[in-house]
Amino acid sequence: MTELIYPQMPERSLVVLIGPSGSGKSTIARTWPASQVLSLDALREVVSDDAGDQTATGDAVAALHLLLEARMRRRLFTVVDATNVTRSAREPLIAAAKRHDMLPIAVMVATPGSVCIERQGPRPANRTVPEDVVIKQHKDMVDSHRTLKAEGFSEIVFSDSLYRLLPFLERLSETRQADLGLDGSAGLGDLNLVSRVFGAEILPLWQWKPGSNVADGDRVAEIRLGQQYLTLALRTDVDGEGDVGFDVMVPCPHDDECTSRAWVPAYSVTCLFRALNGDLDDDEDIVCTAHGPKNGDEQDDDLEAQDLEVIHG
Ligand code: GDP
Ligand code: MG
Repeated sequence: MTELIYPQMPERSLVVLIGPSGSGKSTIARTWPASQVLSLDALREVVSDDAGDQTATGDAVAALHLLLEARMRRRLFTVVDATNVTRSAREPLIAAAKRHDMLPIAVMVATPGSVCIERQGPRPANRTVPEDVVIKQHKDMVDSHRTLKAEGFSEIVFSDSLYRLLPFLERLSETRQADLGLDGSAGLGDLNLVSRVFGAEILPLWQWKPGSNVADGDRVAEIRLGQQYLTLALRTDVDGEGDVGFDVMVPCPHDDECTSRAWVPAYSVTCLFRALNGDLDDDEDIVCTAHGPKNGDEQDDDLEAQDLEVIHG
């Protein structure tokens, strides 16, 4: 248990993260609500579709300054997630805070250089920063420490002393409680299962179809966007042990003319994608309500092959 939360950041603060690539700036930034974080990588992606496109840095910095000004004017707590290892990068941030009586706080993310370099390894190619650049950023950060006070920062703290895990878990917990309706709201209700299986992004397209009888009495739902849609059935006993799961409707694999419904298990959003794309049309787990399992006759073929093998050795 962590008793101490240091420092309690005043509401009217601008937190400027300072650290080389891979030091953990974005990890700590994510402990605050997304709306409070201005991320240079994210803005690079907004202006260029590529968070690692260094030629987009000028435009991204301009966008960051514009957004920062708008938030400072409203006296809103803000975190800037960028390396900020040079004085010239920090100066306009401090100036924006001071223009609006906000408290600029420098947060040094002082992770050892060797760790920052190691962390480049698993990153996608466009986000990997060369070793010599990381070393230079690390040196610049260390050198910065002496001058931060003179630059105008009201406080200088090391990220280690922020104790952000507790508020991070608190925020995640609040979201979870709200989903479950334990905060007095209606909650997601029966959409919790949908969210767990297919992801929360599907929820706005999800519609239960009460009264639909296409799944032999099981609950039916539709995922629709314009004219494209999928029909799903909620199965309440998929394994004879009471486990629940979804089937998605696909064409009958036995007969192009068949108008009965065929179903195949949908375990994740990938199954939904493949079902709509036609990639599951020959799946061996398809069961047609009229013709039965897809693999019914294939099993016969397999048996035949095995028999032949036995006969011919
Ligand atoms: P940035 O380049 O400074 O934004 O660094 P990131 O925040 O992207 O950190 C790089 C990786 O280091 C992350 O994906 C995490 O896996 C890891 N990491 C950074 N800080 C922490 C930390 O405090 N705890 C843990 N467990 N992992 C961290
Ligand atoms: Mg980052």
